[in-house]
Amino acid sequence: MFTIVYDNNPGQKGLTADWGFGCVIRGAEKTILFDTGGNGRILLENMRRLNVDPKEIDVVVLSHIHGDHTGGLASFLQERTGVPVYIPTGFPPAFKQRVRSLGAQVIEANDSARICPGVRTTGTLGKGAIEEHGLCVKTPEGWVLVTGCAHPGVDNLAAQAKEVTGGPLYLVLGGFHLLSRSRSQINAIIDRFEELGIRRAAPCHCSGDPARRLFKQRLGDRCELVGVGHVFRIKPHEKPRTP
Ligand SMILES: [Zn+2]
Ligand SMILES: [Zn+2]
Repeated sequence: MFTIVYDNNPGQKGLTADWGFGCVIRGAEKTILFDTGGNGRILLENMRRLNVDPKEIDVVVLSHIHGDHTGGLASFLQERTGVPVYIPTGFPPAFKQRVRSLGAQVIEANDSARICPGVRTTGTLGKGAIEEHGLCVKTPEGWVLVTGCAHPGVDNLAAQAKEVTGGPLYLVLGGFHLLSRSRSQINAIIDRFEELGIRRAAPCHCSGDPARRLFKQRLGDRCELVGVGHVFRIKPHEKPRTP
């Protein structure tokens, strides 16, 4: 189950929409918080309203350094200490030191890191620019890729996810970072999604309304325009299928 606990696109009533992203993944061996939004108070309040207890979270994964993805971490770690925090390469030493001082363990994932059976990071992309990774979760429908901002290119992250998991990719969900892209550039990315065999897309956070509309127009029912509080009822595939 994938629950969007932080997003700037409005969604479920009673939740606060705020610039940033955060998603809780339940149903695998470990419960994961992917990104923490920009504001810890909003993160914790949205989680509370969505019945996600911070104590349930076993692992935090941060997609990249930007404040709208990492800003809620310190408040979260005050509620839930001692969890491992997976980060891509390129985070400043001061950030890592701060996380350790809050009682968490920092794991820098240059290559694809296995978090538990059926859950792994893509490995870091965007070397020399904004370094970022995504999270791959195995489900009976195929792999789900969760992205933060997708600064290295959502299509490049998806290609990397397919490579490290072996595919197929069922859903790509999160920020696609296409706000400043032209219509033809966005179309080229949708073409690449089709080439990669991605069945569904859920662009939110920094995807931008023009890109969201174009994805919806081209993918129809295969595209969901989601916001804060949206729950994807896809169960992670914890046990290997018996032959
Ligand atoms: Zn962002
Ligand atoms: Zn960003």
